[in-house]
Amino acid sequence: MKAPYLEIDLSKLHSNAKNLVAIFEAKGIGITGVTKSFLGDPRIAESLVSAGISSLGDSRIQNIIRMKEANVQASFSLIRSPSASEADDVVSYADVSFNTELSVIAALSKAAVEQKKIHDIVLMVEMGDLREGILHDDLDTTIEKVLRMEGVRLIGLGTNLACLNGVKPSKYNMDKFSRLAGIYEKSHGIKLTLMSGGNSANFDWVQGSDTMGRVNNIRLGEAILMGRETLSRRHIEGLHLDAITLVAEVIESKVKPSLPEGETGLDAFGNTPIFEDKGEMLRAIAGLGKQDVHVDGLTPMIDVDILGSSSDHIILDATRTPLVVGDQIRFSIDYAALLSSMTSPFVGSVYI
Ligand SMILES: *Cc1c(COP(=O)(O)O)cnc(C)c1O
Repeated sequence: MKAPYLEIDLSKLHSNAKNLVAIFEAKGIGITGVTKSFLGDPRIAESLVSAGISSLGDSRIQNIIRMKEANVQASFSLIRSPSASEADDVVSYADVSFNTELSVIAALSKAAVEQKKIHDIVLMVEMGDLREGILHDDLDTTIEKVLRMEGVRLIGLGTNLACLNGVKPSKYNMDKFSRLAGIYEKSHGIKLTLMSGGNSANFDWVQGSDTMGRVNNIRLGEAILMGRETLSRRHIEGLHLDAITLVAEVIESKVKPSLPEGETGLDAFGNTPIFEDKGEMLRAIAGLGKQDVHVDGLTPMIDVDILGSSSDHIILDATRTPLVVGDQIRFSIDYAALLSSMTSPFVGSVYI
């Protein structure tokens, strides 16, 4: 296989998904598998579905269309608030969308009426992280107005913490979120069947709390793909950390000095390089760079050090593990490296 490529171990992903389904099921919580970081790749989506995840969520309607066209059998939620201009596609392809703006919901309502469909709506509520969400003071009138719109059906509330500002899901804010369900069910005579309480950062809250309140759904991306919860990036016991790895090829390997020669200025990215004189070293170059991946998110799986990188090169100190041209080198990746390499047109995928 032509390097660089992502090696995607579908059986490890399946196993991660299956373990998480069991852990969350024991707490009465259903999982929505979040597919955005792999662009809705149907093979990965299938491995989650076959592990018992029947609800998939993505932030991009294009990814949902990709999975639908590949005939992935699941319910699809658009988990980023849609733009009004994509309302037609959202109603055509998503079963549910998460929303915060009445003008957008009005556009969804119009599209749904035209398409003779009922489109399900979740209202995202602001719980302190200050990304998307309706303020509590505005929730009552928003619900009232949504209930009066044709073609859309309010099925629940959602919240998202620990994303923009790292606000932790706690007993306090999760109980407060749960209480909203009872309050608005009573005041509006409705049933809120979906209470979508967060993402991979809710793992510790789910594990550590004796009651989930009304929360019955969590949206998980990173936990499934990377095997970690995301508040402290702790390994979740029993899950694979290396379900997805990145492989690059060595395109140069030479013994060179560790100190550059000549007067130095800024590097290609405007930074001032720092060097340490380690004498001569075996410097290997991997044919992969900042244009392909967030290099800071890579950890070599063999005993070499990353000395630096440019658009197209990663320079390694391979003195302890001699590499020759043509060798393939494997990196474990974090979420930022996954996102960037998945979206690079230069990085392929291999499934095992
Ligand atoms: C990305 C995203 C998720 C998934 O987050 P992970 O940290 O990958 O579990 C959940 N909900 C929303 C709204 C998202 O945008």
